[in-house]
Amino acid sequence: MTLSLPIDIHSVKGFLADDEGQALYQQALHASTLGPCLEVGSYCGKSTVYLGCACRRQNSVLYALDHHRGSEEHQLGEEYHDPELYDAQRAAVDTFPAFRHTIARAGLEDTVVPIVASSALASRQWSTPLGMVFIDGGHSEEAAQTDYRSWAGHIVSGGILAIHDIFPDPAAGGQAPYHIWQLARASGLFEALATVNTLGLLRRR
Ligand code: MG
Repeated sequence: MTLSLPIDIHSVKGFLADDEGQALYQQALHASTLGPCLEVGSYCGKSTVYLGCACRRQNSVLYALDHHRGSEEHQLGEEYHDPELYDAQRAAVDTFPAFRHTIARAGLEDTVVPIVASSALASRQWSTPLGMVFIDGGHSEEAAQTDYRSWAGHIVSGGILAIHDIFPDPAAGGQAPYHIWQLARASGLFEALATVNTLGLLRRR
């Protein structure tokens, strides 16, 4: 498959591999015809470009949810802290300017609806059925469980739940995303599709 994106995707900061991004795009091409798509954890917009391009092609919409204050591992002094994404005046991580820049460059301002809020707040009064949900938010147990419980129930039949950073081997990476992937499987509500690299994919029955 040749997927041509409107920008050089490697110029966007982020932790999504090429094969994972392409799988997101492929899944969203169909899922976005069932309802709007939503991602949790947009960071600087890398996955947003893949999902947004698929949504744009189908004249659908992508809700891009992130508080833009960074996950645990992005904070000052942590392993994945990036000084370029730190607002020293506010003493806080701020990925929203980089995110907006990415979306504008990619020509996706007519497709992507940014939501700058926590998952818990954004979902509190949510009632729109979703064609696809991509979870790539905080990797603590609490954050991952909140994301799963907040959004998985809104996916329509035939829609897709995608979860990033699935590491069945604890030595390879944190376990929280893997735990919610297991929760989804155990719920009986989803059929597991083939995992792509560390991207878990499930289809709502
Ligand atoms: Mg991730």
